[in-house]
Amino acid sequence: MVLPTRLELAPAEGRLRIWWPDGRRQSLNPARLRAACRCAACRSKPSEEGPGQDVRVITLQEMGYGIQIVFSDGHDRGIYPWPYLQTL
Ligand SMILES: [Zn+2]
Repeated sequence: MVLPTRLELAPAEGRLRIWWPDGRRQSLNPARLRAACRCAACRSKPSEEGPGQDVRVITLQEMGYGIQIVFSDGHDRGIYPWPYLQTL
């Protein structure tokens, strides 16, 4: 499994930046991350009930195999494994 070399939550835009060992850098916006949540609750809900574009990332918790993200809409069940993040 490839682990990122660096993670940064840019407070101004609320974007999550991820640096990978191969030099690739991702900059993911919160709405995209929120929509990509694969927890059981999100997968069972129709997409039209999803959050708006103004959702923000409040905090991150590194889990070893990925990160747990807490969003401004109160959602904190999303776990994003590193290989999944790389596909976003
Ligand atoms: Zn979810």
